[in-house]
Amino acid sequence: MSRTGSNWQTTISKPVSYEGPGLHTGKPARVTLLPASPGLGVCFERWDLSEPQTVPAVPGNIGGSRRATDLECNGIAVRTVEHIMAAILWSDVDNIIVRLEGEELPLGDGSALTYVHLLQQAGLCDLHARRCEASVIRPVWTSQGDRHLIALPYERTRVTFLFLRKGPNSESGYLGSEYFDIEVTPKTFREEIAPARTIGFQWEIRTIREQGLALGATLRQAVIVGENGYVGPTRFPDEACRHKALDLLGDIAILGRIRGHFIGIGSGHSMNQELTRLIARDWKVKRGV
Ligand SMILES: [Zn+2]
Repeated sequence: MSRTGSNWQTTISKPVSYEGPGLHTGKPARVTLLPASPGLGVCFERWDLSEPQTVPAVPGNIGGSRRATDLECNGIAVRTVEHIMAAILWSDVDNIIVRLEGEELPLGDGSALTYVHLLQQAGLCDLHARRCEASVIRPVWTSQGDRHLIALPYERTRVTFLFLRKGPNSESGYLGSEYFDIEVTPKTFREEIAPARTIGFQWEIRTIREQGLALGATLRQAVIVGENGYVGPTRFPDEACRHKALDLLGDIAILGRIRGHFIGIGSGHSMNQELTRLIARDWKVKRGV
């Protein structure tokens, strides 16, 4: 899983499965990863419906954002795809079928590590097709108030993130910030990014659950941010910021393998989705589509 720089497309060597509740729905789902042919990319399949339905991971299928990224095709949704998307790309897998019996991907341990381990268990195999790697071709950005997300041309893949820890209400202002910057490779992804768990703000937990979200998360699967810092043990001193970097990588993984420097300042899923659409639009313009 660490053959960086290979020119050949890959898939996994054998099917593997995992079962667990989804982050938001709390409903159990079974996911089975299967080998796929060259050029397929990442393709989700819903197998809990009367007939199996396919949902390819492409920018045109990005659905709504409710604190996660969903894919949608012909009215069929696959929810909370970001952690598995990041794990697939940065485990060096180009082509894979993600068969899901359920609507939402299992949360696992709240990070991308569950899927990294599952892919390691499946093993990698080369396919007889050249790998394609796209690049950010000009600066692209999106802003919402004081939150910004920028993509710049860069010869490798790099993520820089500034996590702004805002308080429970407008009077409490900023409680602090975290900064994280890394060149992303399969090794740095596995060791420095993948283990960072989903973020929960202590003051939001009840409201989010009343909205019917985060029903599948326990305190072990989340790093809880309180008014005076983290509540409970953490895996990294800046775990929340690293998870934001993970979410960003998972959302832009819908573009496939991509070189660029991605800089997030307080940004989240809806901005990641917007940036993904803007980059995809740039490519279409360049190709004259
Ligand atoms: Zn996440």
